[in-house]
Order: sequence, then C-alpha cells, then structure tokens
Amino acid sequence: MDFTAHPDFCGHEKVVFVDDPASELKAIIAVHSTTLGPAAGGCRIWSYRNQTDALSDVLRLSRGMTYKNAIAGLDLGGGKAVIMLRDGQQKTKPMMLAFGRAVEKLEGDYYTAEDVGSTTEDMAAVRTQTSYVAGLSEGKYASGNPSPVTARGVFEGIKLACANVFDRSELDGLRVAVQGVGHVGWYLCEMLRASGAQLIISDVNHDRCRSAAERFGADIADPNRLHAVECDVYAPCALGGTLTSNSIEEIKAKIVAGAANNQLGCESDAELLHGADILYVPDFLINAGGILNAAREIKKITNSDWVEDQISTLVNTMQKVLDRSRIENRSPHYVAMKMAEDRVEAARLAAAE
Ligand code: NAD
Repeated sequence: MDFTAHPDFCGHEKVVFVDDPASELKAIIAVHSTTLGPAAGGCRIWSYRNQTDALSDVLRLSRGMTYKNAIAGLDLGGGKAVIMLRDGQQKTKPMMLAFGRAVEKLEGDYYTAEDVGSTTEDMAAVRTQTSYVAGLSEGKYASGNPSPVTARGVFEGIKLACANVFDRSELDGLRVAVQGVGHVGWYLCEMLRASGAQLIISDVNHDRCRSAAERFGADIADPNRLHAVECDVYAPCALGGTLTSNSIEEIKAKIVAGAANNQLGCESDAELLHGADILYVPDFLINAGGILNAAREIKKITNSDWVEDQISTLVNTMQKVLDRSRIENRSPHYVAMKMAEDRVEAARLAAAE
C-alpha cells in the first residue's frame, strides 16, 4: 500500500502495519514527527468500518499529536496507534502483548499510552514487552489514567473561554452541553457540576448516559442533536469530526471547548466557526492535559508539582492563542497550529546546523 498518496499522509516519518495472526492483532502505528523528540500518543482500540477508515484516523491523530506536543512545550514528537477490532471482537491480553512487541520493535521512536478503548490494565500488559509506554498505574514514575488530568485542562480551558467571551470565569448558571460521558467526559461533568454549571449530556451508551444524568442532575439530549441545543458552551468529548459546515450552522453555543481529538471535519471549519463568532478552543491545545501527565512518566520526572505547573502554562498558552487570534483576526485553531509549526521548524533548523 502506498501510504504517501493518502490525503492525510502529511509527511509522516513512519507508518507500520502490524498483523499478528496468533493473537489476531491488527494494528497501525503512525509516527508523524520525531523532530522534537520521540513520538508520543495513545493507542485507540476501535471497531472501524474498514482499514481505510482506520488509516485515516491514525494518520490524523498522529499528526495532531505533533501539534499537541509542540504547543504544550514538550520535547516529544507526534505519533499514535490504532488497534482494529472486527465487529463484535473484543480486545485480549495476547493482543496487547503483541502490540507491545510491535512498539518495542520501533526502538523508542514511539511511546504509547491510553486512548479511547484502552486502559491502564492494557498498558500494564504492553509494559511486559516494552518500556516505551506510559499511563501505567504502578512503578516509580507511573502516571496512571490520564483522563482526570485531560478533564482538568478542558475545565480550565472552558473557564478561560468564558472569561474571554462572557467576561466571567465563574460557571454557575451557565449551560454546558457535554457530548460523551466516557472517561474524560465524566470527570469533566464532575468539575462543571461542582462549579455550578447546568449540564446537558448525550452518550450513545444509554446506561452510562442515564448514570451520568442521575449523578450530575443533567438533562439528556439526543446524541445526534446535542450540538444544536440551547447552551453557552458545547464540549465535544466523544469522537472526532463533529464540527462540520452542517453542524456549525446549528450550534447555538458561543464557545466550543471539549476533549475530543480531531473535532473539525476539515481545517477550514475552524474559520467557519470564527466567522460565526463562536470561540473554538483548538482540541489539540485544550486536551493536552493527558499527554502532559504521560510526559512526566516518559521523562521520568519526580517533581509532584510538575503536571500542575504544566497545566498552568497550558492555560497561559491558551490565553496567548486567544489574544493573537483577536489581534490577527484568524481562528484560534489557525494561530495555535502556526505556533506549533514554528516551534517544530525552529527545532528542525537547529538540528540541521
Ligand atoms: P471514552 O471511550 O472513555 O469515552 C467516549 C464516550 O463517548 C463513550 O462513553 C462513548 O459511548 C461516547 N460516544 C461515542 N460516540 C458518541 C456520540 N456520537 N455521541 C455521544 N457520545 C458518544 O474516551 P475518553 O478517553 O473519554 O476520550 C474522549 C475523547 O477525548 C476522545 O476523542 C479522545 O481521543 C480524546 N482525548 C482523551 C484523552 C484522555 O486522557 N482519555 C486525552 C486527550 C484526548
């Protein structure tokens, strides 16, 4: 297969297909860039319609990690992995072991961690085959489940966006629509609720949605219509691609700020949001808490305040992006991408000297 012709290829350094018949593992590991350091990004376990969809997903996610790690100030490049399940197939431990062996073969070009569908237990299995893994729950530098830290970054980002748009950083009484109450969405709802926000939620997992509604006193909306409900903030925390020319027309919120990766259908949708006077906080910026948490483990940092300090820096970066966006009249997404690209380019030039 010629990956280079794929529309989402975008100069990836390495794309590896993994096929392990014994464990029935089928995976793709994509390394977009190692300019700033070894590539780091989670492993998504998902049942894709076909291999083309899986390839598109991993390439877009991997490139997104280059931007995320760069804007978060990390000396890490961008990479990602997807494990492709057949319809009805469940992940297994042998599968995770085979995935660990595949990561090990990359000799440190790529560090894996949790993403949608993978857990700290899965990463513990991966760890038996490779040291290039983060998000472990045991060990001297173990960083554990990244979701609470991701949620915290998103929560701080929502507060910042509210300060910029509504001139208030307190959320009491504001209506926030949270799409997806999985790992990150759940923690986010906890924080939003504790700060007095009113919640409207959706999840295609109806049991989880009902539990969340009971726990947080939230209203439930149809998963296909959540983006269009009357609210102040729309927080996509499920899968990507929810911000398209069609959905943007229907959004009533003045702020879109959530954890999901690759929220934009395409890059130009960021300008559509900007033109519609909707503040979209770039996904790869607002959801960087999880990789900051994993980076502490990868970089073997013992200072227990490090992640909290990095979250504060991330919030400052968000404000810089919003300021530049206002001054240049470009979308925050464009500005954040430019800032990330400039950092990678400076590192490339420095290495070439
Ligand atoms: P998760 O799988 O735990 O939760 C996702 C939830 O969304 C699930 O409950 C699922 O049922 C629901 N969902 C799926 N499609 C939906 C739809 N159309 N409408 C409503 N709900 C839907 O995943 P997570 O770890 O919470 O991650 C959520 C998003 O945040 C993903 O896009 C992930 O890539 C991104 N992200 C996660 C982290 C992290 O630390 N976990 C870090 C950065 C980015």
